[in-house]
Amino acid sequence: MKVPFFRYSHIYTSSEQSYLNVLRDVGRRGAFVLQQDLAEFEQALAQFTGAKYAVGVANATDGLQMALMAGGLEAGDEVLFCAHTMMATASAIHYAGGIPVPVEVGPDHLIDFSKIEMAITPKTRSICPTQLNGRTANMDRVQAIADKHGLQIYEDAAQALGSKWNGKCAGTFGVASCISFYPAKVLGTLGDAGAVLTNNEDVYNQLMLLRNHGRDDKDDVLLWGFNSRLDNLHAAFLHMQLKDYPSVIERRRELAARYQDQLGGIEGIILPPSPDSDARHFDIYQNYEIESDRRDELKIFLEKNGVGTHIPWGGKLVHQFHRLGFDQSLPFSERLMSRMLMLPMNMSLSNEEIDYVCAQIFKFCRG
Ligand SMILES: *Cc1c(COP(=O)(O)O)cnc(C)c1O
Repeated sequence: MKVPFFRYSHIYTSSEQSYLNVLRDVGRRGAFVLQQDLAEFEQALAQFTGAKYAVGVANATDGLQMALMAGGLEAGDEVLFCAHTMMATASAIHYAGGIPVPVEVGPDHLIDFSKIEMAITPKTRSICPTQLNGRTANMDRVQAIADKHGLQIYEDAAQALGSKWNGKCAGTFGVASCISFYPAKVLGTLGDAGAVLTNNEDVYNQLMLLRNHGRDDKDDVLLWGFNSRLDNLHAAFLHMQLKDYPSVIERRRELAARYQDQLGGIEGIILPPSPDSDARHFDIYQNYEIESDRRDELKIFLEKNGVGTHIPWGGKLVHQFHRLGFDQSLPFSERLMSRMLMLPMNMSLSNEEIDYVCAQIFKFCRG
């Protein structure tokens, strides 16, 4: 059996006719940029997440940068983020004028609350937790630290659409957040796309200007902006995809439970929290990231047996890209980095394929 890590074409082929119907409709209307389909998708996305406002943008990286700018980040402000995240979190902070300060990752692969406070300096302005792998951090803990030190919260919720902490969706806790619709993301579309969520009307108004050259609806230019709009065709695709999204989440949680049933308790392997291990967390399993004592050997073994896996971020945490000027040492995160391996987790997988992957891991650990 061959189980690739991801099947990009499946995103399209699994709903080909629906995409073609949308393309025909949008194309014949000539509705390409800042049109009705975008506004409708934004409304549906806000409703789905419980955010007051959603703003479609070109990608989540731009979205996070503009969110930080709209929220009033100033040059030289330090922003704390978890080192186990995509480079994009730090580059968004950098280009918004801030200084990205990495914090250790905790045992559940999200920011370690107990390490946040020691990174705070007089220049610290914000905390930007990444809701990684489709799991939302304990936001009560983050909020308590933010309140105590007078800090803002921004969420990198690129991987966490529909994930919840205590019944509240990722991306709705702080000043603003970003969501990504990159093809491999949980709600992945046919190219680059993203959104910003916010409950703050001023931030929303700033974002609407920032994404469109700083221009208002009378073509007056009020500030220096960007061209970072979510194009209307993608918004129409995404609106169509969002209708089926609850069943996508359900299926991913089913796949995670299937991994858990077969791999739970195997010595030398640590699994992500299972779907029903803690009622406060509603995880959507953007990724299924395990730990192994013999990670590199396991990866090679699985490869030989037809199973594709992935080492997160090419094997380096953000602060390990030294050419960007990081010089921190984060021992727990670095040790974790050498142990992490992502197993296949996507909508193209059959139960039999999951069983096959589990059987191979079982064989490796026993042999
Ligand atoms: C994918 C991702 C991003 C960037 O999203 P884009 O839409 O590709 O810009 C940012 N942060 C995290 C954690 C991501 O996984």
